[in-house]
Amino acid sequence: MDTTDNFSYLLPFIFFVFGCLSLAAGRWGGGAFARFWGLGFCASAAGFTVPILGRSVPPMWQALCADALFYVAFYAYGQALLTRFRLRAWRRPLAAFGVLAYAVLCYFVVIKGNLRGELATSDIGCAILLGIPLLMVARHVRRPIDKLLLLIVLAVVIETITRVAALLILTNGADYASLDTFFTSDYAFYTQVTASILGFLLALAVLASVAADVIEGHRHAAEHDPLTDLLNRRGFERALPMPDKAGFAAGTVIVCDIDHFKLVNDRFGHAAGDMVIARLAAALVEAYPAGALVTRLGGEEFAAFLPHAKPADATQFAEMARLAFEATDWRANHSIDQAITASFGVSATARSDHSVHDAVARADSCLYAAKSAGRNRVAVEGNLPTPFSGSPRIIISSSG
Ligand code: GH3
Ligand code: MG
Ligand code: MG
Repeated sequence: MDTTDNFSYLLPFIFFVFGCLSLAAGRWGGGAFARFWGLGFCASAAGFTVPILGRSVPPMWQALCADALFYVAFYAYGQALLTRFRLRAWRRPLAAFGVLAYAVLCYFVVIKGNLRGELATSDIGCAILLGIPLLMVARHVRRPIDKLLLLIVLAVVIETITRVAALLILTNGADYASLDTFFTSDYAFYTQVTASILGFLLALAVLASVAADVIEGHRHAAEHDPLTDLLNRRGFERALPMPDKAGFAAGTVIVCDIDHFKLVNDRFGHAAGDMVIARLAAALVEAYPAGALVTRLGGEEFAAFLPHAKPADATQFAEMARLAFEATDWRANHSIDQAITASFGVSATARSDHSVHDAVARADSCLYAAKSAGRNRVAVEGNLPTPFSGSPRIIISSSG
């Protein structure tokens, strides 16, 4: 296949377009994952361009330049995968390997003038730069789109290894005649076609994965509170379980509110107040069972829906959160030198409710009762058996 064919122009163009798209996606929320792919695609595009543009450049310099660009490209592809799964420890060893492999490649090109050795080193180096990250991240992949991406990456690595194996088997030593036959063979042509198709599929899978990231990121931002990363009202609404046919969602609601929070802000400043809010959020998440939907309703007010939880159990969870929050040692932060407490209200959903919000309203009434009773308490809706009367801070509220 001669480089003057249109086909050769198409490849760098496609890679350059995908490179630019990935770099742009990095700015729109795709992050380092998209940027590494963008860098890799652009480096590949430049690598494919070298033999086309560099007719006046001696072949030795062409080889050195193109191979350096392909090493950069495959290193960037590998880093994109590692960055995605936060396995950054491999960054330096792979960079060191890339430099070493390039030194070997220079030896073949500059000192030995051995094209076969150069091609084999180039392909083996690229396969390792991408293959090791692939092995590292394989067990961390969850989303179908990422599995598809890894499958295509695996195909790229296998294709690269197959190509180098064919080169080593079908050619011999520094025999340029056999290399020439190899490059003009149908086999070489089809490997180039396969590489182009895989490159194209890889780029599409990358863009799909980046698009999924960006959409997920925006959706997360739309449904979560930036200070605490808890669900916001919209996220809470969406996450609430579907009611049964009679419109009933079994479970218990806990609401809570920090006591005398205005004084905290006044005494220690708004930044310290924010930190206190974040601490309460963490205490709630820790104390409530897995599956609880915890939301910051606004300000320093929180609500949680515990699906299928009985009020007595929910009261115990609220009490655990109350105790953990009260016991926080604030001295290391913002020099807060006093205990800060919160009050809680607990109410189960009822068959007569129109929605979970009715239970939220009753839990709010209980919270008000807890505040009236002196704060730093858990008030639970009345007419319950009282197996939890162990703590003097738990009160039964008739206002539920
Ligand atoms: P109570 O014990 O009755 O709850 O008294 P309180 O002072 O806590 O009263 P309230 O719950 O009404 O206080 C709400 C305060 O929360 C008022 C507002 O300045 C503060 N606030 C609301 N949102 C934020 C926030 O995002 N950060 C900080 N630092 N303060 C906030
Ligand atoms: Mg308050
Ligand atoms: Mg409040």
